[in-house]
Amino acid sequence: MAIKPCAYAAVADHSTLSKRIDTLLASFTIQPASALQGKPAHSMVTGPGIRIENCKNYPYHKQRSPIEGYMTLANDIREGLRIGLQAMTGNGPMGKLHPYHRKQAILLLDLLESSQQKIFRCVEDKTFAYAVAKPPPELFAQYQNDKVIRDIPFPGVVIDTYRLSGFLTRKHEPSTYRDFFKLDDHQIAEHLAGNPQRMERLHRYNNLKALVFHEIVHWLGHAHTNMRPDVVDLYETCFFGGSDFISDAGSNMEFQQRACSILKDSKLWDANEKQQARLWRKQGYDQLKQDMRKMYD
Ligand SMILES: [Zn+2]
Repeated sequence: MAIKPCAYAAVADHSTLSKRIDTLLASFTIQPASALQGKPAHSMVTGPGIRIENCKNYPYHKQRSPIEGYMTLANDIREGLRIGLQAMTGNGPMGKLHPYHRKQAILLLDLLESSQQKIFRCVEDKTFAYAVAKPPPELFAQYQNDKVIRDIPFPGVVIDTYRLSGFLTRKHEPSTYRDFFKLDDHQIAEHLAGNPQRMERLHRYNNLKALVFHEIVHWLGHAHTNMRPDVVDLYETCFFGGSDFISDAGSNMEFQQRACSILKDSKLWDANEKQQARLWRKQGYDQLKQDMRKMYD
């Protein structure tokens, strides 16, 4: 027997969720401690128990004050959450998504509002990724060999500001810089001992709110896959205007629309895992990532 949903309850629930999001966003007041002024900060606490560590050079190593990097990251986290949570709950410009995503928003709010500390740690030239999230405990095992991830507690995110900036790593042999990257002796010396070199072919990540939100979604246990819906990539593409690796506006708009329509497909999100994998291929949704890669700059 079908139970008729109570319209009033649905409305009440909706406004409760909006209030939770508003309260969360309002908690991001950043009051720089006077002790920080004039000297580099090592950490700062903001929002719902978010601790930002070692981020004076966030994002592109051009800070004009010791706290600018921390403020910029706090702002990116808040704005990423604003755009992401509003979209997940059906209040974004793309309109209503399948209710599954609303449930994900509630899980994320539960985690963010919990007393658990959330860490955002910046590192320099330590990883080959722009950022990496520490997944929930049941998924820790796959990261056992990754020291950078092993060292932070859940929920946490490590951001490599060398990768964000598009800097070349300093970890190669000198001959690699000469033969592969075509740097001359002066450039190699400057790169290794002075300022790291920025390479045009190394992408500088621009949409940092999208990147930060992407990492936060990994806290829910969603991993990347092409066998079934990749929730993390779909959210980034639909909510944040396509891909950071594509500069063509028309393509980004097309990919964004494709991702959003996947997030609205009730057959897909109502299905169990096995059916989802089948639908993913049958509907050609597995083509989205491949089509996007073809359009990378
Ligand atoms: Zn990811």
